[in-house]
Amino acid sequence: MDVRRRPPKPSGPPTNSLDHHHQQNKGSSSASARVLDRSPSPTPKASDALPLPLYLTNGIFFTLFFSVAYYLLHRWRDKIRNSTPLHVLTLSDLAAILSLIASFIYLLGFFGIDFVQSFIARPSNDHWDVDVEDERFILDEDRRPRRLPSVVSATPISPSPAPKLMEGPPPTTTTPLGISHPPCPKEEEADEELVNSVVSGDFPSYSLESTLGDCLRAASIRREAVQRITGRSLSGMPLDGFDYDSILGQCCEMPVGYVQIPVGIAGPLLLNGCEYSVPMATTEGCLVASTNRGCKAIYASGGATGILLRDGMTRAPVVRFPTAKRATDLKFFLEDPLNFDTLALVFNKSSRFARLQGIQCSIAGKNLYIRFSCSTGDAMGMNMVSKCVQNVLDFLRSDFSDMDVIGISGNFCSDKKPAAVNWIEGRGKSVVCEATISEEVVNKVLKTTVPALVELNMLKNLTGSAVAGALGGFNAHAANIVSAVFIATGQDPAQNIESSHCITMMEAVNNGKDLHISVTMPSIEVGTVGGGTQLASQSACLNLLGVKGASKESPGSNARLLATIVAGAVLAGELSLMSAIAAGQLVKSHMKYNRSSRDVTKIAS
Ligand code: ADP
Repeated sequence: MDVRRRPPKPSGPPTNSLDHHHQQNKGSSSASARVLDRSPSPTPKASDALPLPLYLTNGIFFTLFFSVAYYLLHRWRDKIRNSTPLHVLTLSDLAAILSLIASFIYLLGFFGIDFVQSFIARPSNDHWDVDVEDERFILDEDRRPRRLPSVVSATPISPSPAPKLMEGPPPTTTTPLGISHPPCPKEEEADEELVNSVVSGDFPSYSLESTLGDCLRAASIRREAVQRITGRSLSGMPLDGFDYDSILGQCCEMPVGYVQIPVGIAGPLLLNGCEYSVPMATTEGCLVASTNRGCKAIYASGGATGILLRDGMTRAPVVRFPTAKRATDLKFFLEDPLNFDTLALVFNKSSRFARLQGIQCSIAGKNLYIRFSCSTGDAMGMNMVSKCVQNVLDFLRSDFSDMDVIGISGNFCSDKKPAAVNWIEGRGKSVVCEATISEEVVNKVLKTTVPALVELNMLKNLTGSAVAGALGGFNAHAANIVSAVFIATGQDPAQNIESSHCITMMEAVNNGKDLHISVTMPSIEVGTVGGGTQLASQSACLNLLGVKGASKESPGSNARLLATIVAGAVLAGELSLMSAIAAGQLVKSHMKYNRSSRDVTKIAS
């Protein structure tokens, strides 16, 4: 739950809501004052209740406690010696006992100050209450028309600056030891100035991290500026609880928070004799449950087998020559086996892991598209292969000085676009995965029959996709599983396009009793190092699968295993969804898992 921290309510007479709105819309000086409100009001201490300085009252009560205790012990000893009853008290005895109790209470409060403070602070938890009036104001503000970004960056957005929309607990700065503390007033003033500068366009938002050297603070300032510029609240998107240092220069620029995606587990997936719990990050109801059911069917039938067919990332620059003849000269040079070793030497020199596997050329007039393919260890490999390709282009310039490099990527690679070249030649890891599901399991776990599944696969995944003119889409929903596992394990979700290319085959075997199912996926692009894989949550998911980071023993084996697991999970997903469709359960189960009983009209804004 996101609760906006509020300053304590003023003790004076309440202002009416119009006044309140007016105050919220005042000039920048008042806005500045409000940003300073981000810090919690000074926390009340027990000692604040005392009229004297703390050191003085401490001294008085310490002295009082020990002197009266000493006096009373002496009086007690005298009474025992004189056989005077202990309960007979003089006036001075009474005064001493009262002083002892008073000083004891003070000392108890002093040492247990946090404890006492919790009692003092409790009644004032309205600091955290969301004022209904403020809430309505923020909602009203959210309805303001969006301004064009170009206008926003060029000029201040309006004569009266947008109100502060900051919500949630105040941003904290974190010491190198990881201890967070609220910002000091000076820092807050500086932050407010920076927010204003970003809003007015005087300070580039992208420079916040490098200027401040504090990524959380930079994100907090940018977030506030974005809210003021757009007049829209980011309430609901968390800011705290994320390591912004870990994404700097690697995963995401200009962060203002993070989106939470739940992770479910499907499994155990029994694949090549090992069990895997497959993490899936998704907001689609039914998906994890369905994949889980597929895993159960595979498990009950003795498991699946996954085989890696090839492993090679590709990059294809486009170069142009004055004539088509010159373009073909280079094509023949590059494809000549006699030149391969020299080219591989040049290609491989910038990485310990990149190893050139082959070069495939395609001509379009005087333009040449050169598709380099190489192994990339445990990295998905796009950065790695791009660097290596650059080496070769630099090398070729000496013999082909008329070569004009148009682009390091000429789309014959082909990255993040549906392309037949990936479907036919493969890109990244090519995997085939199969399982034989017994008739009993098809009937009892999948609630359908083998002939129904075989027929549906033929008419839907093969014929239906052919009718649709599909490219690599001969499956029921491979992209669902691929995307969910990709997001959970820090892969590039855009590569889901080619990574989801899959042909699902189903056949009745063992005299037509059992079902043989296979998925063939020619371009699964995954890595276990680099990119988003090193982030905490994603790396935890990789760890769950036992493929976190670089493999020390056999570089590349972690990424290859991950690709095989992805194919295994797709096999499970295909099996379950196809069964649901064959049994006519699809709509029923989606109504159950995708539509909860919550009244969505209440959620809608
Ligand atoms: P990508 O090419 O997938 O974007 P990067 O090239 O950015 O990934 O990241 C891979 C980095 O990890 C390289 O610097 C590489 O030297 C290093 N590395 C360490 N161990 C391995 C390994 N086993 N496989 C691949 N790369 C590794």
